[in-house]
Amino acid sequence: MKMSKLEKRAIKLLLKYEDKGLLQSELWHKLGVTSREGSRIAIKLEKKGIVKRVKEFAKDRWTRRLVPLIRQVTLDPIKGAPCPSCMYNSVCGRRGTVSPTKCIWLEEWVLSAYKSPSETQKIKVQEEGLQEN
Ligand code: SF4
Repeated sequence: MKMSKLEKRAIKLLLKYEDKGLLQSELWHKLGVTSREGSRIAIKLEKKGIVKRVKEFAKDRWTRRLVPLIRQVTLDPIKGAPCPSCMYNSVCGRRGTVSPTKCIWLEEWVLSAYKSPSETQKIKVQEEGLQEN
């Protein structure tokens, strides 16, 4: 997807407000662009399916809130997983000769992740995210 530098900056900013989104005037202010320029960016991002523009009454006038439709992806939840460096990786899977359902290394890794509170929290967040989709 082709994007201008300004669009990329807008997306970076919007991702910081993943849940609530950001009033478009606040975004223009943070980007240092005029409202006309900002509106063009918002419309482009909406057409690309990156944000939705929700009508909202704020600061005594009707405006739009830009709510990101994309999410930041982090590899943190799978850090330390045994599979990437496993010698059976190429033959492990549903049609492979090795089954991950019987893998002691995978089981140990999952259990150790649950023992650490921060990892447990990450897994819960990940599960909740999966349930929303
Ligand atoms: S599930 Fe187990 S055997 Fe399969 S790739 Fe991961 S660590 Fe290796």
